[in-house]
Amino acid sequence: MKYIASVSFGKDSLAMLLLLIEKKEPLDEVIFYDTGMEFQSIYETRDRVLELLKSKNIKYTELKPKQPFEYTMFNKTVKHRNGTRSKGYSWCGGRCRWGTTEKNKTISTYLKNNYGESYRELVGIAYDEPNRIKQDVHKLYPLYDLHFTEKDCLSYCYKRGFCWEEDGIRLYDILDRVSCWCCANKNLKELRNYCKYLPTYWNKLKKFQRRTSRPFKNNKYTVFDLEERFKQELKGSENK
Ligand code: SF4
Repeated sequence: MKYIASVSFGKDSLAMLLLLIEKKEPLDEVIFYDTGMEFQSIYETRDRVLELLKSKNIKYTELKPKQPFEYTMFNKTVKHRNGTRSKGYSWCGGRCRWGTTEKNKTISTYLKNNYGESYRELVGIAYDEPNRIKQDVHKLYPLYDLHFTEKDCLSYCYKRGFCWEEDGIRLYDILDRVSCWCCANKNLKELRNYCKYLPTYWNKLKKFQRRTSRPFKNNKYTVFDLEERFKQELKGSENK
């Protein structure tokens, strides 16, 4: 039996990986699915961990989408049920999580092709997210078994010097999740912080919005609408 950890290099899967290594649990391979749209600090975290894996002689594999994320988002020919065609799936998130679908498929195909039935995939789902746990004989959830909550994972990573810092900001201080920077699942609080503290990524979001007519948030608000809303909120609070 082979044990393979799926990591995104966010707080939960990183805590899981560090714990597995610290506790000397069986670990044959680490896989990372790189959407190509990760935050810079995720790639920096990966690079640090790669050195650790090398020193422990643990195999590391990077998987990627078949075609670049941006191509699928804006250029791929998409056939709709009513027979019409359009260019690209547009934003990924909400009910249209095409990026997640491809990620899950790519990982499970890789595991089946390389290990048949003789593997266990270690998945970093925290103790306080039980609804994300799937009954699947091939999956193990070490964080859940160890009663490690999301908060525990973050403080465990911070204690080990992993802080996901960009522009002087620890991303987990302003975001609930450090997933793809263009993820349409971000909530309003996260987006407000995004606009305020991460102008480089916010500008990239605006560039993307110019390339698609579909509004970014809830199919209702474009990135420009959100920016205007945040400006008005700021004005309102200054006038108080
Ligand atoms: S994090 Fe968001 S944008 Fe990235 S694949 Fe998942 S749903 Fe899509």
